[in-house]
Amino acid sequence: MTNTAALLPNLILAVANTIKTNADELAALDQAIGDGDHVTNLQRGIQALAMQSEVLRQLDWQAALQKIGMTVMSSIGGASGSLYGTLFIALSKNLQNQPLTITVFAEAFLKAVEAVKQRGKADKGEKTMLDVLIPVAGVLHNNAAQPNVLVQVKQIAITGAEATRDMIATKGRASFLGERSRGHVDAGAKSSQLMICALVDVLATPP
Ligand code: ADP
Ligand code: MG
Repeated sequence: MTNTAALLPNLILAVANTIKTNADELAALDQAIGDGDHVTNLQRGIQALAMQSEVLRQLDWQAALQKIGMTVMSSIGGASGSLYGTLFIALSKNLQNQPLTITVFAEAFLKAVEAVKQRGKADKGEKTMLDVLIPVAGVLHNNAAQPNVLVQVKQIAITGAEATRDMIATKGRASFLGERSRGHVDAGAKSSQLMICALVDVLATPP
């Protein structure tokens, strides 16, 4: 990976496509135990990023991720806007303008997920996006040197999202439902999983 974020237009497009393809399922998940706005929130953010694609691709990764974080924070809204915004801004901060290798990214991603935990005052097992982000950060960090790390990332993201089905929500709107939140996958966990899998597919495709 080079230090210029030339891949970003492709990454943004892949995220847009997966959210569009799965929009009905995601909307239904947030309707079941939230307020139903998760997809429109995400799509507002993705559209804002798509409009910045040309500018973003010319920046270095640290600057691009900072800009993405600010855009996401101001455009998505809802709980997920501030959490995803925090993720990207912390990622940028922790990259510290080093050449971007998978090991450098894994280290920064682990710290960025830690920042999301603090921002949301949440941890693994509370039926949120963190049930995907935390295991993904762990696998990426522990196995960064392994050739099949991206395959492992996809697998753990899928397992993490599915695991939220049997959890009782203790954070976010779904927590108001208590025991009744059980039986539905968390919308934010599912969208995180879909986006991570889409990003990995782009990264794993030779240019
Ligand atoms: P809102 O809940 O404000 O309507 P969204 O619908 O866009 O916002 O996002 C909801 C998702 O945000 C949830 O499905 C969950 O994954 C995530 N979420 C909510 N609160 C928290 C939190 N405190 N920590 C981590 N993730 C959270
Ligand atoms: Mg919502």
